[in-house]
Amino acid sequence: MSRNTAFGSQFNIRAHRVLSNEEQQQRRQIYRKDGNGGDRVAIEPGVPCRYCDHCKRGKYNLCADMHAADFCFKLPDHVSMEEGALLEPLSVGVHAWTKRQIGLVTLLAAQALGASEILITDLVQQRLDVAKELGATHTLLLDRNQSAEDIVKRVHCTMSGAPDKAVDCCGAESSARLAISATRSGGVVVIVGMGAPEIKLPLINALSREVDIRGVFRYCNDYSAALDLVASGKVNVKRLVTHHFDITETAKAFETSRYGRGGAIKVMIHVQPRDANNPVKF
Ligand SMILES: [Zn+2]
Repeated sequence: MSRNTAFGSQFNIRAHRVLSNEEQQQRRQIYRKDGNGGDRVAIEPGVPCRYCDHCKRGKYNLCADMHAADFCFKLPDHVSMEEGALLEPLSVGVHAWTKRQIGLVTLLAAQALGASEILITDLVQQRLDVAKELGATHTLLLDRNQSAEDIVKRVHCTMSGAPDKAVDCCGAESSARLAISATRSGGVVVIVGMGAPEIKLPLINALSREVDIRGVFRYCNDYSAALDLVASGKVNVKRLVTHHFDITETAKAFETSRYGRGGAIKVMIHVQPRDANNPVKF
């Protein structure tokens, strides 16, 4: 179901199809693997070649020959299929944060992995409300008409100074620029969002202050950490699920996700009736 052949082509796993991470869109399939006793599993989408230099060095997320899926993570009984599906975005969050990711899941990962003060910015108050509810220390509603300098000042005044790390999760040029400008000297900026292929960044500002700009692609050895966070209760991803659709309503589900209808954050498409495979109801 993916349009993006660069990383995540369509594939079948027995009778079930997995949606891959696609342009930061927010729709997730329930994962299930038949056979082997019918274990309930989350699937890390994508199988690297295991032969190239990237694979040999353990950086399999950079493999150019990624295909199909067989990375299965068995879910404990108390972890629902919906939570299993959310391990995919959460893994991106874990990868981004530990790499010193995408929006709210990065917030969850940052909290669980020890960030003491977290500020979330957005252009939409409703998303900030959810961020606050999920435990963000501060939220800051941005206004497109404000100057970049003013926004940096507001970030620094709202927080107790410049942040050690900033993560751009949206891919807009203004957002990546803000991440660099607002981060303290010697800090780290992770750019997760992928928007235009070329953007203008304040590179000299970053270089002269030794701000380390890092990229993130997919996830690498992050799924088990993501599952641990969910299974242990350190991270609650349930609040992110705003909509549920039957498989026959797939087109509607995609539209809801694409346009953020009804406050959509994560949209679930159910292959089987809801909770059919959850020992503990979602
Ligand atoms: Zn490879």
